[in-house]
Amino acid sequence: MARRRVMYPRIVFMDLEGTVFLKDYRLDNGKVAPSAWTLLADRISPDCLAEEEDTKDRWNRGQYPGYVEWMRDTIRIHDKHGLTQHVFDEVVNSVRFTPFIQEAVAEFRQNAAITAIISGGFKALADRAQRELKVDHALSACEYFFDGNTGRIHHFNLLPSDEEGKVGFMKLIAKEHGIDLEDCVFVGDGKNDVGPACAVGFSIAFNAQQELKRFASKVIDQPEGEENFSAVAKAIRECFPDRRRKIFRRMRVLARKVIGPKCI
Ligand SMILES: [Mg+2]
Repeated sequence: MARRRVMYPRIVFMDLEGTVFLKDYRLDNGKVAPSAWTLLADRISPDCLAEEEDTKDRWNRGQYPGYVEWMRDTIRIHDKHGLTQHVFDEVVNSVRFTPFIQEAVAEFRQNAAITAIISGGFKALADRAQRELKVDHALSACEYFFDGNTGRIHHFNLLPSDEEGKVGFMKLIAKEHGIDLEDCVFVGDGKNDVGPACAVGFSIAFNAQQELKRFASKVIDQPEGEENFSAVAKAIRECFPDRRRKIFRRMRVLARKVIGPKCI
């Protein structure tokens, strides 16, 4: 039986940092996706930032068994350099929403789309966005628990919400709602968003790293300081579903599976 043609995405999945929130271009050296992990290390001290940079090199050399182990190591560095709840809260509250994100999410909702945030970053930041934008679902990677007396790290909860983990979460949410991922949209900016972009019917690279642009259905490039999320809402309105590009996207996804992530 032929699939029912869906004219508006059933779920809009959004990456958090650099997508829902603006990124700090100053700290994006292309090694990994820009995130508040680096923002936090930068705020703690130059030595903390230097050590955090080393972990990115180790990550790219494949020296961590997975994302959770990378986070554990980075948390050890945060703690070593004296992270406190005060500094953490300051960083989380300093990140600015992408202009017109509220209006765009309201438009998704008006069109009966379910909204979901998926982030490899901090739960506190995802909470901020979820509360403000009334997003339906959110997955993030690290929740810090601070000691009420000392303000230092007491404990943490880690979830493997990197590229593969993001796709797993998307499948879970789509299945829960009885929705095919082909009828969904993903919006992201990082090189770790390629997997999620390839998993849905229509993907948008929003002011993105080059790796993601190669795989996305639609590329939106805006100059730094002129970011505007209404372009995402417009692209969904005008281009979804995009059947023409689907065959090319499928070919790229297949090549990536066969030859590896750096094939194109
Ligand atoms: Mg991002």
